[in-house]
Amino acid sequence: MTSIAANLQAVNARIAAACAAAGRGRESVSLLAVSKTWPATAVRAAAECGQRAFGESYVQEAAAKIDALADAGLEWHFIGPLQSNKTRPVAERFDWVHSVERLKVAQRLAEQRPANLPPLNVCLQVNVSGEASKSGCAPHEAMPLARAIAALPGLRLRGLMAIPEPTDDLGLLRGRFALLRQLRDELNAGGLALDTLSMGMSGDLECAIAEGATLVRVGTAVFGER
Ligand SMILES: *Cc1c(COP(=O)(O)O)cnc(C)c1O
Repeated sequence: MTSIAANLQAVNARIAAACAAAGRGRESVSLLAVSKTWPATAVRAAAECGQRAFGESYVQEAAAKIDALADAGLEWHFIGPLQSNKTRPVAERFDWVHSVERLKVAQRLAEQRPANLPPLNVCLQVNVSGEASKSGCAPHEAMPLARAIAALPGLRLRGLMAIPEPTDDLGLLRGRFALLRQLRDELNAGGLALDTLSMGMSGDLECAIAEGATLVRVGTAVFGER
């Protein structure tokens, strides 16, 4: 077995154990394999093990991999910082964007999404760490922003994403993830229909699943140290 195959098995076992511990079905959490910095051959090895969804942070690097793997029927998620003047290749090539934090970026993506493609799935990135983080909208901005994004053509607002600040304090971390879940619940109570909570990475996926993650973004534990 290749190390990617063994790693994928181990990550899937961790997800299954975390779901069981939280009393959740295994199918309620999906694995996004974060392949940034890894070559197309590594993505292909993971795809051969049945992994379908891959996350990328850099547009140019991703575009080359998407081309190289066009035959494999994969799902591509953009998870990196996104400026409003760099949206076109993301709108044209990806299936999902997790890192939308401003209306301007969402408007560009909506305008640039080709009409022959299905709507682009979008998550609103929220800063759940206060002053300890700079990316994501403030929690109090989430409701008006989500409403505005949900009204745009060419996009489908699926949920919320967060990257808490690095910390060894598990209680603090759980609180960050819980905040994102509470926000999702408030938005849904306010009339939205969000089915995705994108939170949890290699080091903290158990904690995120305990707090309701529906998608974990895992790089290092699948592909190795970057
Ligand atoms: C790189 C990255 C990940 C994966 O992190 P690992 O610790 O390697 O699992 C997840 N989410 C985002 C937004 C990333 O940039």
